[in-house]
Amino acid sequence: MKKIPYRFVLSEEQMPTKWYNLRADMKSLPEPLLNPATLEPAKEEDLYPVFCKELARQELDNTTRYFDIPEEVLEIYKVYRPSPLMRAYNLEKVLGTPAKIYYKYEGNNTSGSHKLNSAVAQAYYAKQQGITSLTTETGAGQWGTALSEACAYFKIPLTVYMVKGSAEQKPYRKIAMQTFGADVVASPSNTTEAGRRILAEMPDTTGSLGCAISEAVEKAATTPNCRYVLGSVLNQVLLHQSIIGLEAKKAMEMLDEYPDVIIGCAGGGSNLGGLIAPFMKDRLEGRSNTEFIAVEPASCPSLTRGKYAYDFCDTGKITPMAKMYTLGCDFIPSPNHAGGLRYHGMSPIISKLYHDGYIKAVSVEQTRVFEAATLFSRVETILPAPESSHAIRAAIDEALRCKETGEAKTILFGLTGSGFFDMTAYNAYNTKTMTDYIPTDKELEISFEKLPKL
Ligand SMILES: *Cc1c(COP(=O)(O)O)cnc(C)c1O
Repeated sequence: MKKIPYRFVLSEEQMPTKWYNLRADMKSLPEPLLNPATLEPAKEEDLYPVFCKELARQELDNTTRYFDIPEEVLEIYKVYRPSPLMRAYNLEKVLGTPAKIYYKYEGNNTSGSHKLNSAVAQAYYAKQQGITSLTTETGAGQWGTALSEACAYFKIPLTVYMVKGSAEQKPYRKIAMQTFGADVVASPSNTTEAGRRILAEMPDTTGSLGCAISEAVEKAATTPNCRYVLGSVLNQVLLHQSIIGLEAKKAMEMLDEYPDVIIGCAGGGSNLGGLIAPFMKDRLEGRSNTEFIAVEPASCPSLTRGKYAYDFCDTGKITPMAKMYTLGCDFIPSPNHAGGLRYHGMSPIISKLYHDGYIKAVSVEQTRVFEAATLFSRVETILPAPESSHAIRAAIDEALRCKETGEAKTILFGLTGSGFFDMTAYNAYNTKTMTDYIPTDKELEISFEKLPKL
């Protein structure tokens, strides 16, 4: 038996140099994106007004198994990667579990999350194509910060539409983005048609991701040589995030380990999709029986209570339609929901794998999430992001089940980020003012009724 260190990091030379495209090995592919104007499967050219060319190609490529990571992208990856694979000995001890708990920690960069992995790639391809500005949306702020960093590096002007509720809760996130040179606009705003329409209907809204996406897409479509970039959900983003899983798999192999259970929090599905990708390949090819668990908030339960249907990726209904588990593009989580993961839909790849029974999903209430986050922080010395803490909750629950059954399972979870900018949420938990909210079936029905009828 190898002595497993608390913290294991691949060397720079061992870092993967290709991204892995799980679609190439899926037995049954996700349904295609539809062009909302024609209801036909979107062609690469249909995506050019919104995405740059190489990213449009990656979005629709279901067959190329490996994509070379461009040298320029590797040069930035090497500044903060490989990320550590941690063995949570201290957490195991306090839980008294026979399970072995590993986590892949993506919070060691200024953006505070895994999102930088795709931001760097997307900014690079935009620069390659001669795109002169980019737009995006950000909810909790990690994506906006990541893209601001990437755009600063490649010298591309960036406008970030930040969900108004978050902008008010996290002023320092905004300052971080501005420091990297981004222009930050609270959404909904009166700078776009979509924003003005939403403000006219709901003047007091705290905004939503779907709405911020609409504003960013509109700005890109109406500004010459500008493109929109999205930090989750899309196939291209899962492709870039496969670096997480490739590193984790290589590191575990070097330690003679293989996970029985892999757990990831799921907002739009990008970290989960990236973490599980190479392990799912093994499962699809019959080489393993690993269990995959997606963890989502009870207040935004797209997998556990959503419908598998074609829906728009944004509230403004201008993006292509994707077949995914969705709560309806008008769904806005209750304002007391603190922990991110508030997107109405789920990656088409994750949705398909879930639909076909390869992934399980659980939903958890936020007070239980923060209880897990607090316990974790006190023994592992990392203050986790609320999003990541959904995965911590499920990993702890799994480890406690192992304690009952005596099974020594090997658990791997994704610790996607750090929670330094989430003090408002931690304070609500600490002062016992945090509440849970679970939408009623009736509320969800109202939203489902508005799904596009094809
Ligand atoms: C954005 C984010 C998530 C959720 O996004 P996915 O696309 O579902 O991975 C999870 N954790 C952190 C820290 C994030 O910033």
